[in-house]
Amino acid sequence: VKTNPVLIVLFGATGDLAQRKLYPSFFRLFRSGALAERFAVIGTARREWSDEHFRDVVSESIQSFQPTEAEKAAFLSHFYYRAHDVSDVEHYVHLKELADRLDAKYDLDQNRMYYLAMAPQFFGPIVTHLKGQQIVTENGFNRVVIEKPFGMDYDSAEKLNDQITQVFPEEDIFRIDHYLGKEMIQNILAVRLTNPFLESSWNRDYIENIQITFAEELGVEERGGYYDHSGALKDMVQNHILQVLSLLAMEPLASVSEANIQTAKIKALNDVRIYSPEEVRENFVRAQYAAGRLGDQGFVAYKEEPNVASDSRTETFVAGKFMVDNPRWNGVPFYVRTGKRLTEKGTRVNIVFKKVPVNPFDAEKAVPANDLTIYIQPTEGFALTMNRKEIGQGFNTQPIKLEYRHDSEMMENTPEAYERLIYDVILGDATNFARWEEVAQSWRIIDAIRETWDRGNEEIPKYAARTMGPKEAFDLLKKENHQWVWKP
Ligand code: NAD
Repeated sequence: VKTNPVLIVLFGATGDLAQRKLYPSFFRLFRSGALAERFAVIGTARREWSDEHFRDVVSESIQSFQPTEAEKAAFLSHFYYRAHDVSDVEHYVHLKELADRLDAKYDLDQNRMYYLAMAPQFFGPIVTHLKGQQIVTENGFNRVVIEKPFGMDYDSAEKLNDQITQVFPEEDIFRIDHYLGKEMIQNILAVRLTNPFLESSWNRDYIENIQITFAEELGVEERGGYYDHSGALKDMVQNHILQVLSLLAMEPLASVSEANIQTAKIKALNDVRIYSPEEVRENFVRAQYAAGRLGDQGFVAYKEEPNVASDSRTETFVAGKFMVDNPRWNGVPFYVRTGKRLTEKGTRVNIVFKKVPVNPFDAEKAVPANDLTIYIQPTEGFALTMNRKEIGQGFNTQPIKLEYRHDSEMMENTPEAYERLIYDVILGDATNFARWEEVAQSWRIIDAIRETWDRGNEEIPKYAARTMGPKEAFDLLKKENHQWVWKP
């Protein structure tokens, strides 16, 4: 297995993300050999934990892999904990001592990965101290991994980026968008670029519209405090949805290198139209979930959720139409929608092709369009609808579906998105991370929408919990004679 020795310094080691995603990912990397003898993890957070307690917590989070005792002991022996307040200079001095000691003990070549699994307001102070207290090494690599959200708008993102780039050059900054680690997102380029029938029709001549849906079944859960200040537009559209859009819209590549992909994605995002207030009102709708029921289960309204203001105007649903103003896509709507408490959980892309201009079998009736569905989660795969002759007399056409979905065994072997992305960081490959220019342009696109919404004080449309959003989200497509392909 190709790998590098590395010291992982994890800020936020007692947090939810660390326990649910990061420790299991580290363990999978350990099993695969990508983390072998020459690695160590320093966990830091405010709580006073001992190394022993830390190892117990890590051990707990990897139970589902059923490690043998020997395997578990070998893995856990690489974990160390330091209580740490990110704004206390003294703590960085201790951190440096431990880091240098582990570097010598495990022969780590001064390679360091700083994983900031903490609230964004701490990112700036942490990187400043990493440099100030000389934790950043002279000889090895120093890479910083940053969780979302990267800013709350363009201005705050730029400020944050300025702080980080004072310490780390752009090529050492790995902005995580965990969707980019998903198998099927990475598959978008393979499917587009290696199938001639798709590659040649991936443009305005053959594609009628493109639909991206990120549907969540859950409500806001315990994240009300954060979410109520963010909303669906910033939480989902600015990052995940625009990232997927850029992979779908970008120009084809002669070779899929990191630099080529990033340049092409940036170009695609730069071509997304930044809307005037009038265009925002025409092309974007937001809504908030009201109480609802599905079967015999009842769900409370968003405003009744814990830590949400009872007069909240935060949107839990967004649907909109993006336009990509270039020769390839001119006039092709990219419809997007995302929301909480929708009918069903699922992330998928639908490519709706144009219809044949005439139906040779029945001039009165249009033949249904071909639709390519890319299933991203919870199942992964593709489906393509095609028209055939209905069995029997006459010449009626009927759509059929050619479908490929991963079976459960293959799913199990699919590395978790985080595992893949952390491995990329160890290798220094930033292909599946967001560059600053992408983040910056995404914020410009989103800010135009947000500012228009924040200026008005009209009623926010409501949708019943466990439905696919408000009427307005369906009308948005209807007015162009389109409809959402996925109707759970
Ligand atoms: P969390 O609240 O569970 O954990 C935060 C961690 O920060 C804890 O370990 C806490 O001890 C530590 N901390 C807080 N203040 C500190 C201080 N002053 N000094 C030192 N340590 C301090 O948060 P989380 O859910 O683990 O999320 C962490 C980051 O990851 C956030 O940026 C979040 O947006 C992002 N994220 C989380 C998830 C998820 O599934 N949990 C998913 C995507 C992104």
